[in-house]
Amino acid sequence: MVYMSCRHRVYPNQKQESLFKQYLGHSRFIHNNIIGEIEYNRHIANLFHFRAPYVNLKYMESIFNYLREWYPFINDLDINTMQACYKPVLQAYDNFFKRGFGHPKFKKRYKSSQSVKINNINKRIRVEKGKLYWKPLGWINLKGYRSEITGKIMHIKLQLKNSQWFIIVVYDSPLPEPFPKTGKEVGIDLGVKTLATLSNRKAKATLKLNEIEAKIKKTQKDLKRKEHGSEHYKKTLKTLHNHINKRNNIKREYYHKISKDIVKEYDTIKMENLNLKEMILDRDYSKGLYRASLGMLKNMIKYKCELYGKTFIEVPQYYPSSQYCHICGYRNTELTIEEREWQCPQCGAILDRDLNAAINILNYGK
Ligand SMILES: [Zn+2]
Repeated sequence: MVYMSCRHRVYPNQKQESLFKQYLGHSRFIHNNIIGEIEYNRHIANLFHFRAPYVNLKYMESIFNYLREWYPFINDLDINTMQACYKPVLQAYDNFFKRGFGHPKFKKRYKSSQSVKINNINKRIRVEKGKLYWKPLGWINLKGYRSEITGKIMHIKLQLKNSQWFIIVVYDSPLPEPFPKTGKEVGIDLGVKTLATLSNRKAKATLKLNEIEAKIKKTQKDLKRKEHGSEHYKKTLKTLHNHINKRNNIKREYYHKISKDIVKEYDTIKMENLNLKEMILDRDYSKGLYRASLGMLKNMIKYKCELYGKTFIEVPQYYPSSQYCHICGYRNTELTIEEREWQCPQCGAILDRDLNAAINILNYGK
């Protein structure tokens, strides 16, 4: 069994939308107040030199119950859902104390993406004929539903992203039929110029999004000229969100198609470990973001391998796949990122940077 998810655009009516907003608002309220309470207690403990309470489930529950007493409006909404809001906080503190992650953060009201998780306790959520039912909400249409949900619904997520509403349904599903074996293996190098270069010289082209990118840039410029919060501002912001959503959808669809094609064709797929943090911090910001979206493509290939019975191998990050000549093994430590092609001083071969890297990735560990 495996958890699958599908994301559907929804168009809530006025009553449903105000309910959605309440859920988002309340979950943010609980999240922030629990962090606030924990931090206050840690501060006081520090000040008077005693030990702060240990952050565990029991402590979270006690804060939650106290919040319910002081802010009774919490009880107006589904209490199981409200209760589930502190689980991520607990996880964040666990990561902070034990794994050296960053400090748990407050949720901001005007973030472009917000969501709240609703657990399907006692099968109270169900999907029938492309419609979802949950008692507080009633029935709501799932746009683009194509009878994907075959197993038990585990939870749903209400999501508000760039002013559009979505419902993500997570369900337990048996593994799909594996793809037939082909006996082929491949190394893949992901890049900005060519999206995916395969070790057998095949390549997947980078998606051309010039038109929509230009629209996004223009709308962003327009937005800067509008008075913040005015009607014109809101209208332009909505247009901007529409463009961004459109671009993301085109990209996601393209990546899904490419990843599926690759996983179908090869039994073993080798790829490099991409350092996402480094990519986002790229000096050329837009390029950095683009490279970060390559991480999305890699993840799609990885999970499809698991889903369809193929093997995915990750080559370590420190392995300089583009520096070695794949023919004689000479290492060119002076290769710069701008050099698309180089000649090996040892064997004289002329090497295409991406293809050479893809072949080295395939040969790694052999
Ligand atoms: Zn060589």
